[in-house]
Amino acid sequence: MKEVLLGNEAIARGAWEAGVTFAAAYPGTPSTEILQNIKADYSKDIYCQWSPNEKTALEVAVGAAIAGARSLACMKHVGVNVAADPLFTAVYTGIRGGLVLVSADDPYLHSSQNEQDNRNYAKFSKIPMLEPSDSQEAKDFLKAAFEISEQFDTPVLFRTTTRINHSKGVVEVGSREERPKPTDLPRDVKKYTMLPGFARPKHPVIEEKLAKLKEYGVTSPLNRVEMGDTSLGIITSGISYAYAKEAVPGASFLKLGLTYPLPEALIRDFAQHVDRVVVVEELDPFLEEQVRLLGVEVSHGKDLFPIVGELEPGVVLEKLAGVKTAVPAAAAGLPTRPPVMCPGCSHRGVFHVLKKLKVFVSGDIGCYTLGALPPFNAMHACLCMGGSITMAHGISKVMAGSTDPLNRTVAVIGDSTFFHSGITGLIDMIWNGGNSVVMIQDNRITAMTGGQQTPGTGQTLMGAEAPQIDIEKLVLTLGVKPANVRVVNAYDLKQVETVLKEELSKPEPSVVITKDPCVLNYRIKDRPMKVDPEACTACKQCLQVSCIALSMQGQGDERKASIDPNFCTGCTVCSQVCKFDAIQQA
Ligand code: SF4
Ligand code: SF4
Repeated sequence: MKEVLLGNEAIARGAWEAGVTFAAAYPGTPSTEILQNIKADYSKDIYCQWSPNEKTALEVAVGAAIAGARSLACMKHVGVNVAADPLFTAVYTGIRGGLVLVSADDPYLHSSQNEQDNRNYAKFSKIPMLEPSDSQEAKDFLKAAFEISEQFDTPVLFRTTTRINHSKGVVEVGSREERPKPTDLPRDVKKYTMLPGFARPKHPVIEEKLAKLKEYGVTSPLNRVEMGDTSLGIITSGISYAYAKEAVPGASFLKLGLTYPLPEALIRDFAQHVDRVVVVEELDPFLEEQVRLLGVEVSHGKDLFPIVGELEPGVVLEKLAGVKTAVPAAAAGLPTRPPVMCPGCSHRGVFHVLKKLKVFVSGDIGCYTLGALPPFNAMHACLCMGGSITMAHGISKVMAGSTDPLNRTVAVIGDSTFFHSGITGLIDMIWNGGNSVVMIQDNRITAMTGGQQTPGTGQTLMGAEAPQIDIEKLVLTLGVKPANVRVVNAYDLKQVETVLKEELSKPEPSVVITKDPCVLNYRIKDRPMKVDPEACTACKQCLQVSCIALSMQGQGDERKASIDPNFCTGCTVCSQVCKFDAIQQA
């Protein structure tokens, strides 16, 4: 039977067909929908969970695999940085049930803080890697990944990119491979306990596995030779294969699905049968460098194709076939539309106050990172998940001698990010005598990725009720003085300002918590506000809160602020900003 599936739906389907019974992830674009689809369609057979971060997601999956279950861990590319510690050692322990780690990379940074090519992780951690080129392969290769994982006693890296995760394709679906439920839990201390004495002999074993995997790749259908016009031989993988095939369908192709370790004999053989080899790949010269190291002459690679950003199909067409594609005029001339906070978002008022206070704001990853953009311009640094508190602490230590209030630091972090890895930063600050103010904006959801549960929502991904971790109690337990733990109403600008000023004056760590849920997820809508045109002076101050419900309407003296009642949630933030009382509840 055939179905049209998104790449992420196909991965979820592949997990089900492969007999997976355990899946864990931290949500992150472009990987989020994998677990959402497992939950929606396959949770009868697959236990699935959101984990507090990617490291814990991989660790629980390793545990499940050691117990004998086929297990899946999913994350976006930067998440693998967080999970790198268990990853590098899980390659040493090996597994019992198959274990696959999905790394969903985001070339061009559609929604990420950096652009990294996680194929490099395969080489670095010595883990076999599969790369699908479309939805069908996303499903089929995932099943193959579990076979490889069990056959070679190793986790497998399953690397996708946004264009694979978020594109649809026709997929021939199959049935589930039912696997016997593990009944025993063998004790194998030498295999699973990585003391130096047990780990040392594992390294040569891993090298032997990689050598065997090279041989395996020579005959595996995961790697495919498509001979056509032998004047041009293209070595490629992933979405780059689709672009190259479209550009020069008649050329010869070595399409690699098992992209680490590379099938050396197959590459050499392919190169001998074509006049020239061109390597087409996105981001780093991962394949090109390895092919060159084999002594195979590569006539073109990164000298033709960019090392930065998504590989554009038009660029591939131009470089391979010499066909220039005109950029449509409308697309070239369109104004850019920066992302904005939702109408009624509880972050809006907080950033308005932070801007007013002119403190240094150390930000984190979440919707609230938008506080860095105009008109707020109220976030001055943002590094990575959980980094806001530690960065603020480092800055405040260096600026400790300064009496200038402008040098005071406020760390802004959401609830999900706090649970992810902000907690350890706060422990660092408390332990090492910091004095920053930490604002935890608890909107009770992982908002930026579409509204997933957190350890504070009282519900698991499977829909079961769960203990709700109380952030206020947690920070008190960590050691923040009770007088320095403040809960404020994010929509009450005066209160937010007063409390922040009080906490900024203290020489020790403070935590200010907002507990206003995400308007989008909880569908909050009060009576909309409206502008009194008589009172409005057209000063445009209200526009500074950057709400899409607000605009200026009319010409000349008639030009006044206006609120679209369809968008306005009645949050009142703009009315608190208007000095002329021109904005009132409708
Ligand atoms: S802040 Fe008040 S007076 Fe100024 S434009 Fe907005 S509604 Fe009008
Ligand atoms: S009250 Fe003002 S800021 Fe809040 S949603 Fe309505 S227009 Fe936007």
